[in-house]
Parts: sequence; C-alpha cells; structure tokens
Amino acid sequence: METIQRDNLGPAKIIQLYDPQSGLRGILVVDNVTLGPAIGGVRVSPTVSPLEVSRLARAMTLKNAGAGIDHGGGKAGIIADPHTADLEPLFRAFARMIAGIDEYIPGPDMGCDEQAMVWLQEEIGRSVGLPAELGGLPLDKLGATGFGVVACAEVAARQIGLPLKGARVAVQGFGNVGVAAARYFVEKGAIIVAVSDSRGTLHDPGGLDISRLVAAKREQGVLFKYPGGRQLPVADLFGLACDILVPAANPDVIDMQNVAEVKARLILQGANIPLTLEAEAELARRGVLVIPDFIANAGGVIMAAMEYRRKSAEEAFAYISEKIQANTERLLDKAKKEVRLPRAAAELLARERLESGMRYRSWSHKWR
Ligand code: NAD
Repeated sequence: METIQRDNLGPAKIIQLYDPQSGLRGILVVDNVTLGPAIGGVRVSPTVSPLEVSRLARAMTLKNAGAGIDHGGGKAGIIADPHTADLEPLFRAFARMIAGIDEYIPGPDMGCDEQAMVWLQEEIGRSVGLPAELGGLPLDKLGATGFGVVACAEVAARQIGLPLKGARVAVQGFGNVGVAAARYFVEKGAIIVAVSDSRGTLHDPGGLDISRLVAAKREQGVLFKYPGGRQLPVADLFGLACDILVPAANPDVIDMQNVAEVKARLILQGANIPLTLEAEAELARRGVLVIPDFIANAGGVIMAAMEYRRKSAEEAFAYISEKIQANTERLLDKAKKEVRLPRAAAELLARERLESGMRYRSWSHKWR
C-alpha cells in the first residue's frame, strides 16, 4: 500500500480530526509554508484519505509557487457523503478544530461550495471562495481560470509564431473553465471550431457561436440542441483539425492510445493532468507545445489569493494576466535553454523558488 512520502518540501503537518459530537472525521495537511500561509480546498468525500489529501496538498505547494503567489500549499478533507450529510455542523466543527492552525486558509473543493466557506469565515475569520455579496470573488462565475488559459495562450502562441486572431481552437469540456476559455479566445479573434461535453462533440470548421452554445446547454442541458455544427462522439474532438487544443474536463484524456490523432500545434492544460506524461513527451518530440496545468490553469488560485487580500475583480484579472504571462515566458525560456519538457521546467521553477525561500525562512515560522 502506498504511504505518505516526506521530502525536503514537506508535508510539515498531517493532522487527523475526530469529533464524535458533530460526527466530523477529517484530515488537514499543511505541506509547505515557506512562501506564505497555505491555501488549499476542503474536499468532502466518503473516501478521502490522508494519502489523497497529502498529494493534493503537495500539488498546491507547487501550483502556488509556480503561479508566483505568496502562499504555501495545504489541503483538507472531510470524510462524508456531500449528497446526504448535514454539512453545516461538520464544517463548523472542522473550523473550530483548525482554528489555531493560522497557516492554513481553507477554500472550496469537490463536495462543498461558497456557503461552506461562509460557515468557516464565521467560525474562524478566514477562508476564500466567499459569495460576491460577502466580499468574495466567485472565480467560476467570473471565469478566472479560462481567462488565465487565454492569457497564457497569448504568450505561448507568439512563441510558435501563431497569431491568436484567426487561430482555430478546440475545447474539451464545456463547464466553468471551458466556457470561459472559449469566450476569451473569441475576444482575441480566435475561432472555436469544436467543443465537447460528457455526451458528445460539436464541430463546425466555420466557427461555433459561444453565446448560443451556452444558451443551448443552459436551456436543454445538451450542446446538441445548438442549431448547427456536426455532432460527433466525445472522443473525436482530439483528432479534429485545429491550431490550439484546450482539454478542460478530466485527467488522462490524451494518452499513448490517442496521441497520434492530435493535430493541434499548441495545447493548454485547462484541466489538471489531462495528458499522461508519456503523451506529453511524445507531443514534445513532434514539436507540439504543451503548457502544463499548473501554469496554464492557475487563474483560479491567483484569484483566490486576490480575494484573501480584499482586491477587486478588476485588480484580480489584471494580476492574473500579468502573473500567468510572466510565468509562461519564464517557463518557455527555461525549457528552451535547458532542453526540458515544459512540465519539467515548470516544476523545477516552482521547486527553485521554494528551495531558495527555505534558505531564509524556518519551517516553524508562524503565519498569521
Ligand atoms: P465543470 O464541472 O464546470 O465542467 C466540466 C465539463 O466537462 C462539463 O461540461 C462536463 O460535461 C465535461 N465533461 C466531463 N467528462 C467529459 C468527457 N469525457 N469529455 C468531454 N467533456 C467532459 O468543471 P470545471 O470547473 O470547468 O473544471 C474542469 C477541470 O479543470 C477539472 O479537472 C478541474 O479540476 C480543473 N480546474 C478547474 C479550475 C476552476 O477554476 N474551476 C481551476 C483549475 C483546474
């Protein structure tokens, strides 16, 4: 059985929570707080385990360091079924039990929402992902991650001599990230030639109308009610002719089985780990530029950090654009100079930032 690994980055704290009065069973992992207090979501799931939480906490350490924000990485889990459990007493008990761990700032993750963040805020005065009415920056409504994907595309496309104006884009997954990315690509003059959801792909080489797609999905629940385009099976999206591909749904969708079909010149990872490492290496060999998830999809986490600092949505968008573009440039420069895969270069940049910070700051430093 796989066990939690410790290395030079962490995890600094692994805490199991148990409160029989509320029924709370939970886990908190604070991985690394060199760069600032850890930000990471609270996952509510009947199967969430210390190992899963510690891996997610490490992913947050690298993501936050890679994004260039002054936050460390952490994550929490509440062991409960989000569909059947009474979440309020669980969240309030969770908050009281982590009240003293100031170096962890909770945010939303699978199985909870902005209401849960309000309960945490009421109990301990800290959380991100609050509703707009209470000073939050609702990153999915604002489309922060999709906006960041397109900011990243501007730099990456320039690197391969591809103008965004007129570029043909295919987007897998028509949810928070996919819809926002499609909208911002259209603002830059790109043409959305294909989109998919869990039920199928819609293709039109002449360009799909995003507003009408959103209306079709909202009113009928399916993209296929869109008047126009060609309907194809879900998996066909990856092989369609396009310049830019944005996988924005689930993990491992491009692997060694279908990588040969991919025709795009640039892939921006809107979802987390949508490509296997082997497929990323194969695409690099073919000269396809792949920008890894924790650089391309960092818009959401950057917006959460801006919410914590009480910034406005306008300030947050400007900061996302500035940070993601600078990070993409740095990443491409490092990948080129050191002949590395972009993912390896991005991880190295994040680790270098953490390791140089750790030379100055002690692990037991108290963040408030
Ligand atoms: P979402 O639930 O809003 O949307 C997911 C979309 O993917 C839906 O349209 C769904 O129909 C579609 N989908 C599911 N299975 C599919 C399949 N096999 N083929 C094609 N489409 C499929 O989710 P989201 O918030 O847009 O997040 C998408 C991914 O991006 C997730 O992996 C998430 O972890 C990651 N991510 C999200 C954010 C964010 O800010 N929301 C930030 C970073 C990473």
